[in-house]
Amino acid sequence: MSPLTSSTPQKRLPKLPSLEQAEFICHWNAKLTASEPEEILRWALDSYAPKLTMATALGNSGCVILSILARLETKIPIFNLDTGYQFPETLELLERINRQYGLNIHRETPELSVEEYELKNGGAVYLTDSNRCCYERKICMLEQIALHYDAWISGLRRDQSPTRANTPVVGWDAKFGLVKIAPLAFWTGKQVWKKIITESIPYNPLLDQGYTSIGCAPCTRPTLPGEDERAGRWAGQAKTECGLHLVNQSLSSSEL
Ligand code: SF4
Repeated sequence: MSPLTSSTPQKRLPKLPSLEQAEFICHWNAKLTASEPEEILRWALDSYAPKLTMATALGNSGCVILSILARLETKIPIFNLDTGYQFPETLELLERINRQYGLNIHRETPELSVEEYELKNGGAVYLTDSNRCCYERKICMLEQIALHYDAWISGLRRDQSPTRANTPVVGWDAKFGLVKIAPLAFWTGKQVWKKIITESIPYNPLLDQGYTSIGCAPCTRPTLPGEDERAGRWAGQAKTECGLHLVNQSLSSSEL
């Protein structure tokens, strides 16, 4: 059985940083909180490359970070967790960004294709157990990938949703045992859009069609005026995160 496709979600013990790691994270989180994203990314590269990676779903924040990484001419591995359920627009954007910026965003795919997975499970798992589907199509892959790295970059921002309101610039991801760097943690959605427009950064065309956060097609809908950016994800369910960025397994510097 494949380790990437056969496991079911289990409660795992948080992985704690060493005292030395915790002090390093606290120090740099305090120091970088008011820094520009480029400075934060330079620090991340100096501190962790080549054991540094980035996971991206090609959201607008991710696209901004990718444009900066391209300018820094880094060769760190960047990957997209391709569940098989992503929108075609997302996959086209990935190819466009790779071409335009000379990046090599790699599509990590589960061992079973969507057809094989649904056949094995008697239908679409996202309809009956979205936590299991996210775990088996997405989180399992990151658990394997995380074993090879010390730190990862994400596009999380504090203003995206209440569950992300305490995102640190440099924190500890207790779920995957990695330092987690969020260069846009203190940016607003407006700042991100301004940068995208000013610098003609490619973005997902679905963002012009009422979507404000884009994940897998079956679990994403456009948002309504006044809803938070992530309200269209798993709408109608209590679920707000796929499990990559669970807040109760991320420790900010005040908790370290
Ligand atoms: S977002 Fe939906 S389709 Fe994608 S992995 Fe999670 S449950 Fe499955």
